[in-house]
Amino acid sequence: MKSINIFDVRIANITIKKSLELIEEAITKNEQRKLYFVNADCLNKVYKDPDYKKVLNAADYIFGDGIGVKIGSKITKNPIIDNVNGTDMLPLLCEQCEKYNSSIFLLGAKPGVPEDMKKNLEDQYKNLKIAGFHHGFFDKENESNNIVDLINKSKTDILLVAFGAPFQETWIHNYASRLNCSVLIGVGGLFDFFSGNMPRAPKWMRALGIEWVYRLMQEPGRMWKRYILGNPLFIYRIIKWNSKK
Ligand code: UDP
Repeated sequence: MKSINIFDVRIANITIKKSLELIEEAITKNEQRKLYFVNADCLNKVYKDPDYKKVLNAADYIFGDGIGVKIGSKITKNPIIDNVNGTDMLPLLCEQCEKYNSSIFLLGAKPGVPEDMKKNLEDQYKNLKIAGFHHGFFDKENESNNIVDLINKSKTDILLVAFGAPFQETWIHNYASRLNCSVLIGVGGLFDFFSGNMPRAPKWMRALGIEWVYRLMQEPGRMWKRYILGNPLFIYRIIKWNSKK
């Protein structure tokens, strides 16, 4: 599979359509696949965190999310062909699940949020099967085995994990072998948007790849470091890293 390399993380250089085909293929073949998204903020974390890098590189597919990865890939002279991110993928994934009768389990976000998301998704996608849900604020050390049992009992095909990066990827990495589902996906703050608890950026902003500007406006206290400092830092790091390759 064609890929791009940023900070020695191998990012699949495929379209969102192809990524959906890979998901359905894993379910049909009953094989397990770990899928993660990385944006500029994740790659800044990778730069400083070798454990996160190891977890990412043990994934089956990593997708490049957002304008930062697009600019970064251009700097490495291997431009990424599509912006494969969770917000654009989820509606298409729901449609695909309806078509093939595949089910989704929602794990993550604050108590109440996955329930709201389930309701919203089932309203919108009448034939969609949400196999189960659980919030993401359980004791990861002591309660993870119970959560794994809950997920396995639901017999879900797909598990979406929304704890934010790198916690969701690390959790998937640690528990994948005990989980019976085919597709494990780390999805960050996705549930907050699709539950209706946080408004999403307008379409034109998403089309320009500047959803981050909207998130910055919503939560400036938490997001300014990530974006105002993080975006130029990412570009600086990638220029430096690329010149040493
Ligand atoms: N979260 C969780 N469990 C935790 C910590 C966080 O479920 O122990 C959730 C949190 O409620 C939010 C998501 O993880 O829904 C993280 O969102 P964020 O926007 O930080 O993630 P990103 O999209 O930046 O990876």
